[in-house]
Amino acid sequence: MQTNLFIDGAWRPAADGRTFAVEDPATERELARVADGGAEDALAAVAAAGKALPAWSARSPRERAEILRRAFELMIERRDEIAHLIVQENGKALRDAVGEVMYAAEFFRWYAEEAVRALGEMSTAPNGANRILVQLQPIGVSLLVTPWNFPAAMATRKIGPALAAGCTVVLKPASATPLTALAIAEVLAAAGVPAGAVNVVPATRSSEVIGAMLRDSRIRKLSFTGSTEVGRLLLAQAAERVVSCSMELGGNAPFIVLDDADVDAAVHGAMVAKMRNGGQACTAANRFYVQRGIAPAFVTRLVAAMAALRMGNGLDADVDVGPLVNAEARDKVQELVEDAVTRGARVRLGGRTPAGTGFFYPPTVLDAVPRDARLLSEEIFGPVAPIVEFDAEHDAVRLANDTEYGLVSYLYTKDLARGLRLAERLDTGMVGLNRGLVSDPAAPFGGMKQSGIGREGGHDGLLEFMEKKYLAVEW
Ligand code: NAP
Repeated sequence: MQTNLFIDGAWRPAADGRTFAVEDPATERELARVADGGAEDALAAVAAAGKALPAWSARSPRERAEILRRAFELMIERRDEIAHLIVQENGKALRDAVGEVMYAAEFFRWYAEEAVRALGEMSTAPNGANRILVQLQPIGVSLLVTPWNFPAAMATRKIGPALAAGCTVVLKPASATPLTALAIAEVLAAAGVPAGAVNVVPATRSSEVIGAMLRDSRIRKLSFTGSTEVGRLLLAQAAERVVSCSMELGGNAPFIVLDDADVDAAVHGAMVAKMRNGGQACTAANRFYVQRGIAPAFVTRLVAAMAALRMGNGLDADVDVGPLVNAEARDKVQELVEDAVTRGARVRLGGRTPAGTGFFYPPTVLDAVPRDARLLSEEIFGPVAPIVEFDAEHDAVRLANDTEYGLVSYLYTKDLARGLRLAERLDTGMVGLNRGLVSDPAAPFGGMKQSGIGREGGHDGLLEFMEKKYLAVEW
């Protein structure tokens, strides 16, 4: 297990010798001590990335593609080991962790394929006087900042396209889950990524470390995934030097079930949308809007499906739901549930923090949730499904859109035309239509409103790390 900073192709302790503890949320025991990077380390990483940039961007797209392809293969070979690391530092169930490693590795494969497809454009100017050539170039040294909830996938979803585009990077992983990011650095080095092209600097002094990098003129791009609150702060800091920003921020996904939906399919989708990662996903269904006619059947079956889940240490292969990431996260979920109950919501399942070790919170279903309950407007980030009934279709759309977030929404109906019509009216960057999972390396992932700026995945993910250069040419 690597626990040092990865800078310029070498593993090294923090310049000031500081370390921090990484905890296992299931046992509350210290898992490892990791080098705690400071501003000096971060700037050394930026310098290494700056030095590596000319050679890396000059490599042929095919060479970069083959290194990424090799990284995909090595990550699959190390699937189980990396999955165990994810379970230990993040807490999620092993099945979810294995799924995450596969999903994460796919970003290396997809961007190996995209590296050779950075197509430009050529056209004749409308007046016929000259040609317009548009070329794509790597944007330069990129600062990547990731959250703890998908410690592998959020890193590869940025590193893959950045390397494919010809950029070099410094990654600052979440301090709750740095070990997975360090394991990915090992994979990339073994795949042939040259020294300095990928640097990883775990740090608990996030604000200081990221601030120092954003002030450095070599940083040309910030790609951030995390909360809207921190995203806003970083956008303001990036504005100082007009750094290009891609922001993947928080969500508050509505899950709409119309009267004509297939109830079993809707419950299956609800379980995926709600319970992947124990509810700790930006795409997690946060609010269930269920049309009155179908509500009794949907609620009964959802409660049964949630009750059948086994909670425990994620390392146990039979466990479906692990602990939440830390005590603060668990206490926030409990607080949101208590707020809803105080305002009149009914507990159909769960709803109470269990005694004992580990940051566990049980699968919980609340119905008759009043519209002013906090958990309808805040990200729950836990295994809690609040249900609100509605009568008319337009009410569902209005309620779904009544939020500052706009990442994803889910919609269940057997009438595809109706589904497509409503999907167009939902103010979210993504819609799961009769599907509880939208994430796909080949698709543009991202949000509207305060859920973000830009897209990751698909071809768009590559373009986020490229600049367009227009040449006015006459011949
Ligand atoms: P977070 O608190 O915003 O942290 C994200 C990253 O920013 C971490 O690396 C964190 O470092 C760093 N950070 C925190 N405060 C900072 C500051 N003042 N200045 C500079 N950096 C700072 O988010 P999180 O709790 O890790 O992750 C959960 C959030 O991420 C949720 O809101 C979720 O919806 C969102 N998310 C969005 C997507 C998406 O694609 N849209 C995907 C996954 C998660 P430390 O860990 O050291 O604090």
